[in-house]
Amino acid sequence: MPELTAQAKAWAETTIRTAIVAEHNLGRLISFAEEGVQVVEWASVIDAETTDECLGLDGLRWWLPADPLDFESYIGVGHDVPFPGPVGPHIWNCRSTQIPVTEDDATLALPLAMENPK
Ligand SMILES: [Zn+2]
Repeated sequence: MPELTAQAKAWAETTIRTAIVAEHNLGRLISFAEEGVQVVEWASVIDAETTDECLGLDGLRWWLPADPLDFESYIGVGHDVPFPGPVGPHIWNCRSTQIPVTEDDATLALPLAMENPK
């Protein structure tokens, strides 16, 4: 087997890391749907490396559709930003995740007071 160049190694590592984050987030979204979670919130890691895309997504909420893998059926709570999928639109090296918004959370009074459109 030929030796990987440093560039190929970096590419492979980025690809694998990105796939793991996306897979992890997909698994979470499926679990949330199974547990009856109605709303999910985008949570970006905020530091010097955060992309503008993920900065803009941080804190946005969507109604979780019956099929959490149907990204087009996510409906924004108080906004019309399309749900980007399990990682940000830049995809590579994204460290964002989605967190469940539950009725027990006092900060949820406002969005949950809205009618769930699904
Ligand atoms: Zn990101």
